[in-house]
Amino acid sequence: MSLEQKRILTTSIPGPKSVELQKRRTAVVSAGVGTMLPVFIERAHGAILEDVDGNQLIDMGTGIGVVTIGHTNPGVVSAVQEQVAKLTHTLFTVAPYEKYVRAAELLAAHSPGSFPKKVAFFNSGAEAVENAVKIARRATGRTEIAVFDHAYHGRTSLTMAMNFKAHPYATGFGPLPGSIHHAPMSYPFRDPEGMTGEQAAARTITYLEKRVGASQLAAVFIEPIQGEAGFIVPAPGFLKTIDSWCKANGIVMVADEVQSGMARTGKWFASQWEDGFDPDLVTVAKGIAGGMPLSGVVGRAEIMDSAHAGGLGGTFGGSPTAVAAAVAVMEQFEQGDWLNRAQEIGALIVKRLTEMMAIYPIIGEVRGVGAMQAFELVMPGTLDPNQPATEALLKHCHKNGVVVLNAGTYANVVRLLPPLSISDDLLHEALDVISEGLATL
Ligand code: PMP
Repeated sequence: MSLEQKRILTTSIPGPKSVELQKRRTAVVSAGVGTMLPVFIERAHGAILEDVDGNQLIDMGTGIGVVTIGHTNPGVVSAVQEQVAKLTHTLFTVAPYEKYVRAAELLAAHSPGSFPKKVAFFNSGAEAVENAVKIARRATGRTEIAVFDHAYHGRTSLTMAMNFKAHPYATGFGPLPGSIHHAPMSYPFRDPEGMTGEQAAARTITYLEKRVGASQLAAVFIEPIQGEAGFIVPAPGFLKTIDSWCKANGIVMVADEVQSGMARTGKWFASQWEDGFDPDLVTVAKGIAGGMPLSGVVGRAEIMDSAHAGGLGGTFGGSPTAVAAAVAVMEQFEQGDWLNRAQEIGALIVKRLTEMMAIYPIIGEVRGVGAMQAFELVMPGTLDPNQPATEALLKHCHKNGVVVLNAGTYANVVRLLPPLSISDDLLHEALDVISEGLATL
């Protein structure tokens, strides 16, 4: 399928057909399933979403970093079509199929660490995180889990306890499972000025040693770039210092790369940007299968093998169509120029946003790595979060056919996760709309 890579507005946003569908949706879909943009999408290709009213929007969010390779990527579409006509289900633990093994081989080859690795596939990011908790507990015989301030790990019962924000993720859904400990994160924009990664790590380690005790911890979970938090990039040295402490104390280091992973930052995984950071396990989902639901845990073979047969799995985990899509994605990332393109996209966005920051003092910081960039909005001259401006800017972008997402503990961050197939022209056009929005604030 193809779709002209152009922003086209034929009606107001949302258009009349979307408004009608939204009424039907409200009548039948649970209120707990929120809506950011009440625009119903009919089809998509590359970086363009076409809605039911014929509007074409530039997708700067990719469904929160899922279609990194672009919407309806031809390689993914044909891999899925071929697979769906051949075999859709056996349940891998009942009777296996080759594509699961091939996807595992590719993931093991490209994930961080040069040690022997093994893989298990699941359906969602949260499920991958839950399984990493199980595996780390089984491998260490310990129970306690550390997570970081501002983190996000999912919406299941266990992962909602691992998130920093109680609301909206856990409000009224308790009791929450115990043995989860929230530790200070390196957040350079809000940490004391000049605090190094090593100093921030020392603060975290002291906290965990006092509050939990290193010998009690099964695992430390960290997003190497925090996603929902608004792309908080820890200060250099933070990840590797925490990692060394984990290694010295027999704690499994888990990198949650559900959002930052797989080509998004210009390397296969964001963890690979910090020398000396060697996570034992990595959780993956979102961008690994070009829009098909698939997640996984990959990591040190001996840790992955500590789980007994039958302990890991699930009916649909690593379904034939999902792993076929993942193979198509990873084989393209291996052959193509995708990783470089992520860095070029990042450089273009940073240049434009930095220019905007010089004009509009409500931009407190521009941050990110590769095609994972965000800017944090503040009250000019302060660190006070500017949530109303963030909301207004998002509205402006959406009304003008540019899909951007918000993020941040204080809901004051605009994050950009464009598909890596986007053209420079379209990127500039999306950034022009952001700039016009900033001017109107
Ligand atoms: N971990 C991280 C870092 C995430 O960003 C997300 C999703 N935003 C999850 C876990 C949960 O993934 P899923 O929504 O697929 O369960």
